[in-house]
Amino acid sequence: MKNQRLELFLEQRKIAERVAQLAQNISADYQDKDLVLVCVLKGAFFFFVDLIRRLTVTPLIDFVAASSYHRQGSMGRVSLSPVFSTSIRGRDVLIIEDIIDTGLTYRTLTNYFSLREPASLRLCTLLDKPSERRTELIQPDYVGFVVPDRFLVGYGLDCDERYRELPDIHILTT
Ligand code: 5GP
Repeated sequence: MKNQRLELFLEQRKIAERVAQLAQNISADYQDKDLVLVCVLKGAFFFFVDLIRRLTVTPLIDFVAASSYHRQGSMGRVSLSPVFSTSIRGRDVLIIEDIIDTGLTYRTLTNYFSLREPASLRLCTLLDKPSERRTELIQPDYVGFVVPDRFLVGYGLDCDERYRELPDIHILTT
């Protein structure tokens, strides 16, 4: 907390506009599909709630907890906690992430869900930091904003569990 500075990066109004567009695209793409939306906890919870309230399709909803970040650097290892309860076999799964950075979380989630034989598996992320990518092949299907390599907090994103409550997204500097 001490010596941490917040610089406004994305206002809630801009975020809301983009989330509405994404919800429109997803609704169009998944009409007449058996959609399961999976929220990746904890960071995606603001985005997830705002997104699902704007959908015009009726998905099944579930959650998975993933952790990879230690303070401001990736540990290079991702652990998933199985809070997931929906059967996804034969269903169209769309994973909802807050941010893709190195892509390790994405890869771990893809492996986890692929084994459960969904009809399709796609990923939507609010923020994409492509400069940090360690796996070339990773390309999310829906992206809210492409962002630079800065540490972002707010709108669900944290630094040691703080700042998640902020309605806007900020750059955190120390
Ligand atoms: P990856 O596995 O792609 O490196 O990292 C994905 C996870 O790292 C995200 O779900 C998020 O929890 C965390 N992360 C990556 N970049 C940032 C950032 O700029 N700010 C915050 N708060 N978390 C980040």
